[in-house]
Amino acid sequence: MPLLRAENLVKHFKKVRAVDGVSFELRAGETLALVGESGCGKSTAGRLVLRLIEPTAGRIWFAGKEITMLKEHQIRSLRREMQIIFQDPYASLNPRMTVGDMLEEPLRLHGLYRSGRVAELLGLVGLSPHHASRYPHEFSGGQRQRIGIARALAVEPRLVVCDEPVSALDVSIQAQVVNLLQDLQRRLGLAYIFIAHDLAVVKHIATRVAVMYLGKIVELADKRTLFAAPRHPYTRALLSAIPVPDPSLKRNRLVLQGDVPNPAAPPSGCGFRTRCQHARPRCSAEVPALEEGVACHFWRELEAFPTPSRLTAVNERLLRLQAAFRSSGGVPL
Ligand code: ADP
Ligand code: MG
Repeated sequence: MPLLRAENLVKHFKKVRAVDGVSFELRAGETLALVGESGCGKSTAGRLVLRLIEPTAGRIWFAGKEITMLKEHQIRSLRREMQIIFQDPYASLNPRMTVGDMLEEPLRLHGLYRSGRVAELLGLVGLSPHHASRYPHEFSGGQRQRIGIARALAVEPRLVVCDEPVSALDVSIQAQVVNLLQDLQRRLGLAYIFIAHDLAVVKHIATRVAVMYLGKIVELADKRTLFAAPRHPYTRALLSAIPVPDPSLKRNRLVLQGDVPNPAAPPSGCGFRTRCQHARPRCSAEVPALEEGVACHFWRELEAFPTPSRLTAVNERLLRLQAAFRSSGGVPL
């Protein structure tokens, strides 16, 4: 049984189709990455499964129970099981509270407080007990993200939505935080929904990857499959948009033409067709379903993707991330 299941989730903000029929499953201890350009509905999808916002349509199950229709007071106990980490921890941390008070708050709210637990949580994320008496502004960006992680983990959740948790951090710090998240996942058996636009980070942390475009999942695959043999033209374009270090490889680059269409007036048929070099009449007539992990009428007919050069680019950035981590001595902070 999956830990989380979303079926045909829809969220419309007035005319804006932020999430437009998204289905996926997440197993315990697994990381599902949500990737795609800004505005494609990643954060909205994450907030929907946590029941932070009301779905317009669709259903959500957590640990075998349907949670779509839970009332406010029932959602509170769900908060213990599902937490979120934001891109900008500073915005989510109260500047007038000490770190200790901030960690104590969720513990007391859920009746989990015991002495020593705050120090334990700080230790878990590589901080020291003496940090408890300090305020958020006294910390660096990476340390603040550690505090955000500690706060999310205080209530011992089973699922954490990580919404671009390293996007605002320096590369060397990114590596530390990503490694910390992976380490915590192994130790605590956490499941992650990891929202990101950096494919090198995704390649490092994900088990499976869902590529989103205009509120829909256009490709959903095991990480290795996705990076080795991307099938959807959009996934291919995303992978080839990664800067290639060797200029002789640039010829192969697929450039994404134009902008993402307005999600309040999406194209008919396939949402990607206005930017797709393979689009044909059927693409404007018929919405492609997600079948065999890809939502494209013609993916089988597309030429093999020139992956080696693309993967070199992803791997080189990944190696830089890892080197940055090693050069920091592997020591947190
Ligand atoms: P992403 O996280 O992929 O950048 P979002 O889920 O934040 O995308 O947004 C998807 C779309 O929904 C965007 O067009 C965004 O402007 C819109 N949107 C998100 N939240 C709201 C909201 N609270 N009210 C109105 N529109 C929203
Ligand atoms: Mg977002």
